[in-house]
Amino acid sequence: MDERGIKDYDELLERAKDIEWFWGEIAKELDWFKPWDRVLEWNPPFAKWFVGGKINIVHNALDRYMKTPHRDKLAYIWEGDPGDTRKLTYGDLYEDVNRLTNALRGLGVRKGDRIMIYLPMIPELPISMLACAKIGAIHSVIFSGFSAAALKERINDAGAKIVITADGGYRRGKVVPTKRNTDEALGDAPSVEKVIVVRRTGEDIEMIRGRDLWWHELLKDQPAMADTEIMDSEDILYILYTSGTTGRPKGVVQVHGGYAVQIYNTLKWVFDLKEDDIWWCTADVGWVTGHSYIVYAPLILGVTSVMFEGTPDYPEPDRWWSIVERYKVTVLYATPTAIRMFMKFREKWPAKHDLSSLRLLGAVGEPINPEAWVWYYEFIGRGRCQIMDTWWQTETGSFLVSPLPITPLKPGSATKPLPGIEADVFDGNGNPIVGKGGYAVIKTPWPAMLRTLYKDPERYKEVYWTRFPGVYLAGDAARKDDDGYFWFQGRLDDVLSVSGHRLGTMEIESALVSHPAVAEAAVIGKPHEVKGEAVKAFVILRQGRSPSEELEKDLKEWVAKEISPIARPDEIEFVKSLPKTRSGKIMRRVLKAKELGQALGDVSTLED
Ligand code: ATP
Ligand code: MG
Repeated sequence: MDERGIKDYDELLERAKDIEWFWGEIAKELDWFKPWDRVLEWNPPFAKWFVGGKINIVHNALDRYMKTPHRDKLAYIWEGDPGDTRKLTYGDLYEDVNRLTNALRGLGVRKGDRIMIYLPMIPELPISMLACAKIGAIHSVIFSGFSAAALKERINDAGAKIVITADGGYRRGKVVPTKRNTDEALGDAPSVEKVIVVRRTGEDIEMIRGRDLWWHELLKDQPAMADTEIMDSEDILYILYTSGTTGRPKGVVQVHGGYAVQIYNTLKWVFDLKEDDIWWCTADVGWVTGHSYIVYAPLILGVTSVMFEGTPDYPEPDRWWSIVERYKVTVLYATPTAIRMFMKFREKWPAKHDLSSLRLLGAVGEPINPEAWVWYYEFIGRGRCQIMDTWWQTETGSFLVSPLPITPLKPGSATKPLPGIEADVFDGNGNPIVGKGGYAVIKTPWPAMLRTLYKDPERYKEVYWTRFPGVYLAGDAARKDDDGYFWFQGRLDDVLSVSGHRLGTMEIESALVSHPAVAEAAVIGKPHEVKGEAVKAFVILRQGRSPSEELEKDLKEWVAKEISPIARPDEIEFVKSLPKTRSGKIMRRVLKAKELGQALGDVSTLED
C-alpha cells in the first residue's frame, strides 16, 4: 500500500472506510479478463461487487502461473492418515485440473450445473473444486464424515447432476465408507446422473453400470490442456452448507470475483505470507476455512501448503508436531478445540519435536480462551510467534475481524476489524455500545460476503438483515472495549440470563478451562424459577485427574471467583466427551435438549 502514499495502519484504516476505493485498489492485484465498470452495487441486502468485470478464480489460482517459474513450485505437500505422501507442483495441479475439466465437459457439465464433492482430504478434492470452477460449474463440498442422510439432503437442495466421491477415506486408521454412503444417499436423489469414484482405499465397492465411473479411467486419456470459462464476477462459484451448530444448515452462495479479491487480500495481510513460507491450514476442505484458505487463497498467492487427511492425535498425540517438523511449516492455522485437546495431552508431545520453523500462528472457529492462547503461545510458538485470532463465518467468506502481525495483541481478543470492514457491537435498539456485551454486526458490505442462501433469498433476508435493517447480523455476541478491540463471546443463542444478568456461555467455559484440572467445558442454561436460568456445566478433566465432590465444589468456587458469584454453576457434570459438530464446535443445543428431555432437532452435523 506504500505506493499509495499511506503512512501507517491507522491511516490505512481511515482511508479504507471508502470501501469502493479500497477494494477497487486491492482488486487490481488480480488478473481480470475485463475490468469492472463499478466496484459496488448495493441494494440492501443484495450486493454486487466488481460489476461488469470478467474473471475466473482458477485463472488466478493456476493458469497465470504456467508461464512463470511458479509452475515447478510445490502447491501441496500432502500427507494421508496412514502416512503416505504426495507432492504436487502448480504444474501438476494445473494438468490434473485440466484432465478432469475435459472429462466433466465430456459428461455434459456446463456453466451453472451443480456438482457435489464428497471426498476425503486427498488432492482430488481441490482438483475437483478447481475443475468445476474452471468450467463455471458450481461446486458444493460435503465434509466426508457426514452421513448418507446429510449428503442426500444437500444433494437434493442443490439439485446436483454429478457426485464426485471415493471408494473410502481413512480416519484414525479406519475406513470411512464414502462410496457406500453415496449409494445410500442416491437412493433418493433423482437429479444425479453420474458418480465419479476416486480409488483411495481399494475397498470392495459396488460400481453401478451406467452411473458410476472410476476417476483414473475417466482421466487416463484426457488432454492436459483445457480452456477456462470466462465468468462474470458475480457468477456463482460454490454453495457451501454451514456447519449447523445452531440449526438447519444454510446453503451459503459465493461468487468468483469479490470472493477471490478478499480471500487473497486477507491471507496475504493477516499471515504476511512470503514466497518461501510453508502454510498449513489444519481445517478440512469441507468447511469454509478449507475452501478459502487451503484451496483458493493460498493458490492465488502462489504459496506452498501442507494438506493432511488425518486427525491430530493419531497414531499418537504428536502427529501434528511431527508434520510441522518434517515439512518445516512456517505458519500454522488451527482451532481452539484442537489446542485444548493438545493441552489435555500435555506439553510432552510437542516437546519431542523441533518446531523452530514456525514464525506465526493462527486460530479460528471459536473464541480462544486465554488459557489455551497462552499454552499455544508457549508450547507451540515457544514464545516467539504471535497468534492471529481470526473471527469470521461461512457467510463472511473471509476473515473480517483479525489482527495483522503488527497489531498489539490482547489474548482472547480477535482485535479489530480489518481494513475495509466496518464491524460494530449494537444493543437491542441498534445503538453502538462499548464495554458491554451485545450483537456483533457488520455495517457495510464486503466483497466476499455471501450473496444469498441458495434458492432461499427470504431466509437470507430474515436471518441476517431483519433484526437491524440494512445491517448484517452475525448471530454472535461480542463486546467492544475502550480500545476498539472485539471480544467474541459465542452465539447469541448461547447467551444466558441469570438473575437478569447476561452471561456468555463461553465466558464461563473459559473460566472453567483455566482451572488446572479441566481440559474442556460446555455450559448451558436451565430454566430456573427464581433466577430465570441456572448454569449447568459439563466438564472433561485433564489426563490424570478424576472427578470428586471436592473438585466439583472447587470448580464452582473457581467460577464465582473468576467471573462473579452470579455465574457460579448450580450443577457440574463430569463427562468423557461432548457433542460436537464435525468441525469441532460444541453443540450446546444438543446438550440442552438432552438435559431438558426435548427433541434433538437436526443432528446431521453431529460428530458422534
Ligand atoms: P451454523 O451457522 O450453521 O449454526 P456455524 O456458525 O458453526 O454453523 P461456521 O460458519 O463454520 O458455522 O462458524 C462461524 C462461527 O464460528 C462464528 O459465527 C463464531 O460463532 C465462531 N467463530 C469463528 N471464528 C471465531 C473467532 N476467532 N472467535 C470467536 N468465534 C469465532
Ligand atoms: Mg453460523
